[in-house]
Amino acid sequence: MKRARKRSLVTGGAGFLGSHLCERLLAAGADVLCVDNFFTGSRDNIRHLLGHPNFEVMRHDVTFPLYVEVDEIWNLACPASPVHYQHNPVQTVKTSVHGAINMLGLAKRTGAKILQASTSEVYGDPALHPQPEEYRGNVNPIGIRSCYDEGKRCAETLFFDYHRQNGVNIRVARIFNTYGPRMHPNDGRVVSNFIVQALRGEAITLYGDGSQTRSFCYVDDLIEGLIRLMDAPDDLVGPINLGNPGEFSIRELAEQVLRLTGSSSPFLLRPLPADDPMQRCPDIAKARRFLAWEPRIPLAEGLSRTIDHFTEALGLRPALLAS
Ligand code: NAD
Ligand code: UDP
Ligand code: UDP
Repeated sequence: MKRARKRSLVTGGAGFLGSHLCERLLAAGADVLCVDNFFTGSRDNIRHLLGHPNFEVMRHDVTFPLYVEVDEIWNLACPASPVHYQHNPVQTVKTSVHGAINMLGLAKRTGAKILQASTSEVYGDPALHPQPEEYRGNVNPIGIRSCYDEGKRCAETLFFDYHRQNGVNIRVARIFNTYGPRMHPNDGRVVSNFIVQALRGEAITLYGDGSQTRSFCYVDDLIEGLIRLMDAPDDLVGPINLGNPGEFSIRELAEQVLRLTGSSSPFLLRPLPADDPMQRCPDIAKARRFLAWEPRIPLAEGLSRTIDHFTEALGLRPALLAS
């Protein structure tokens, strides 16, 4: 898909989603400036883009001001895995809140359009299921996940206040669990954990009894949704849910990963972390209606592609072939 030539700033561009987005934007003809402090991102994720004449990388922390000239801003900078965002919770809040203020200040000065990578975590442990955008959520403001949840909620507030107060052209996407190639093997999120454990023949760490649910979206589908939202008419500010409505228990996910890898790893039951949401599934009626978007890659296919990636990246062979 071609887009008008734009100077596109991607914060968090060396991360999992950011690197896929940079790749797609370059392919569509953009000049891409990738800004990242490399906390959870890595040069490996963007190494294949480094020689591209329209690609530039800047090491920078978005909690500090940034003066560049751009046409659009994709604000993805923020660790997304609970293990990483809980490592330095104060920095996580600063990244979401100060990062949003700086990027919105930049958008205000340059007139750039700006998209926020928000999250299904704004719904917390939801009492309404599936979650439509109108649902205001059930978030613990003082728990161990709050630095992420409340930081992202405050970022949404800032986006809408800059929109109302300063006329900034905003887009807010609420992204549900997304997986795929280039997740870091030690990222700590469930899909990468299970695949790496299965491929290595290590125990599958199931938190709680595995009955909690998530809805997993393959990365290519998600990136397509983000681009459609950015390119939508200006009155479509969101927030808009982007995710795959196929809902699975974590135990079902583990069983699929074992089946697809041919692994016979045993389960290792671990306590459920505090405030871990018990269910999550997006209502994507708005994305269907206004963006003509819905995910196309079913879980089994997306997992297979991700397994292939990890098999190669880790120099491993699926257990099926190993004997
Ligand atoms: P990721 O951890 O792979 O990427 C985040 C990137 O942001 C990394 O490259 C990291 O180094 C960078 N970063 C972190 N703090 C920074 C700072 N202060 N300044 C500059 N760069 C910084 O995570 P991801 O899965 O690619 O997530 C990208 C965005 O999408 C995040 O904002 C996340 O909250 C959001 N999101 C992701 C998911 C998902 O399932 N992947 C779901 C909901 C929301
Ligand atoms: N900012 C930035 N780049 C810019 C313009 C602003 O990083 O090109 C930062 C600036 O540091 C400021 C923040 O964005 O703290 C918010 O900008 P705004 O204009 O809203 O606020 P003000 O400068 O009036 O405090
Ligand atoms: N989870 C698990 N084993 C793991 C990692 C995660 O059972 O090794 C569970 C976790 O408790 C949660 C779900 O999988 O219920 C999704 O976790 P993840 O960290 O991927 O994302 P989030 O909780 O932010 O949706």
